Amino acid sequence: MPVPVSQMWTVASYVVGQRLRRRRRYPLVLMLEPLFRCNLACAGCGKIQYPPHILKRQLSVEECLAAVDECGAPMVSIPGGEPLLHEGMPELVRELVRRKKYIYLCTNALLLKEKLEAGWFEPSKYLSFSVHMDGSQEHHDFAVCREGTFEKAISGIRLAVDRGFRVTTNTTLFDGADPNAVRGFFDEMMEVGVEGMMVSPGYAYDKAPDQTGFLQRRSTNELFEMILSNRKKGWRFNQSPLFLEFLMGKRDFECTPWGNPTFNIFGWQKPCYLLQEGYVDTFDELMETTEWDRYGVASGNPKCANCMVHCGYEPTAVDYTFSGVRGIWANVKAMLFNRYANPTAAARLEEEKSKPHGPMQHLVQLGFAVDVKPDGTREVVRRDSDEAAA
Ligand code: SF4
Ligand code: SF4
Repeated sequence: MPVPVSQMWTVASYVVGQRLRRRRRYPLVLMLEPLFRCNLACAGCGKIQYPPHILKRQLSVEECLAAVDECGAPMVSIPGGEPLLHEGMPELVRELVRRKKYIYLCTNALLLKEKLEAGWFEPSKYLSFSVHMDGSQEHHDFAVCREGTFEKAISGIRLAVDRGFRVTTNTTLFDGADPNAVRGFFDEMMEVGVEGMMVSPGYAYDKAPDQTGFLQRRSTNELFEMILSNRKKGWRFNQSPLFLEFLMGKRDFECTPWGNPTFNIFGWQKPCYLLQEGYVDTFDELMETTEWDRYGVASGNPKCANCMVHCGYEPTAVDYTFSGVRGIWANVKAMLFNRYANPTAAARLEEEKSKPHGPMQHLVQLGFAVDVKPDGTREVVRRDSDEAAA
């Protein structure tokens, strides 16, 4: 079972309660960012580009808990930055467990083994480590811009699984992702023993240094259709099955950014986890003063035009599930008949095997090339500077 029954029950009763109260906009997952500091510097990251005085700041445990209580969402996702760099994390997690919040502690897992050995956390049905894994070893190390990261994360995951912790993975896919390699990576993660996987396309953050690798809507559907059709029996996803159908192009949803409100050192962020269009001091102010109609694909806002990211669309999928018999039936069907046999997607997957993929191909897209020296060593060079010199 990818999501424990108690968690499904909590979410289902919460959403039904909101709908019975005719609350049109309600929070489902609080995105709590206690700090932006990180021990990695991934090219696609939109969080670590702040100046040092901002990166030094962090929310106190008390500030985090006040935001959790104010918001009232049944689930709390703790991204960052790297939350394991925050010395108050054990206390924050203890307090959240005491409040019966389902926690996704998002980590690159470089410090996971060390912190588990130091006794920072106790296993709980409320706590899940959501480990940032961008693919198999070569792809992951390239995406996070540091060698050896994959191995270190895997050893943290294995220890957490052995000690009885819930562990999930979260994977962001960028343009040029190799669908066959992603499927191989899913096999690997299942073998390591994670409870379930989460996938999402990347979002083109203004601040991310690599602006070339983000997926557009149509290529997102094509990529996810190849990856998620003809699904293997053992794969488990820790996500709404209807959100996965949305990624595959089988459903059309509109963004509901209020479903995953964001709180960080600046306050409550308008309108979503991805865009920063102002901050307010209280959750009520966020809900009441954000001009929600300016966001989502239907709004025509160019910043939303290509976005299919989970923090905007997964709450929509969950809300739709409990919108009536059609939603429930769609969800049940997606859970029971979850193989999605699709010969066309299988054929395209086969064709992909002969196309260039992987880190080297990504380098080419970024304007780099790999120069192989006579002694066999390789050096990454900028193509345009080569051409200019020629
Ligand atoms: S691990 Fe996450 S927070 Fe850290 S640099 Fe990479 S994407 Fe950013
Ligand atoms: S479409 Fe994406 S960028 Fe726009 S509001 Fe929704 S989550 Fe944010």
